[in-house]
Amino acid sequence: MSCVFCKIAAKEIKSAVVHETENVIAFDDINPQAPVHAVIIPKKHVEDISGIHDVLPEIFGVIGRVVEKKGLKDNGFRVVMNKGKDAGQAVPHLHLHLLGGRQMHWPPG
Ligand code: AMP
Ligand code: ZN
Repeated sequence: MSCVFCKIAAKEIKSAVVHETENVIAFDDINPQAPVHAVIIPKKHVEDISGIHDVLPEIFGVIGRVVEKKGLKDNGFRVVMNKGKDAGQAVPHLHLHLLGGRQMHWPPG
């Protein structure tokens, strides 16, 4: 298994875990792009959305818990999913970025 996010899910690589459920884990991004920047992943290695229909509600539940834990409820946050080359996806394990704690701009770069 060479996938960095699989290793984080298996606790073979250390991360700052924000919230964890049976099938989903959220951890602080190692290179944060905002005061709050968490990455949310299904523990199972899936490369695109077609593989995770069952776990989608759990992922969105974890987004809600991270929002609470990080104090983003009042001012808001952004959820981003990069897919493929044009979006600059670096890790081929499906993940969502949860960003907050500063004013976001639109359109994103
Ligand atoms: P993406 O460009 O959407 O594939 O984003 C991958 C994200 O994973 C980047 O924001 C990286 O900073 C983050 N990342 C990569 N390795 C680690 C790690 N070991 N711990 C935490 N975040 C990581
Ligand atoms: Zn993986």
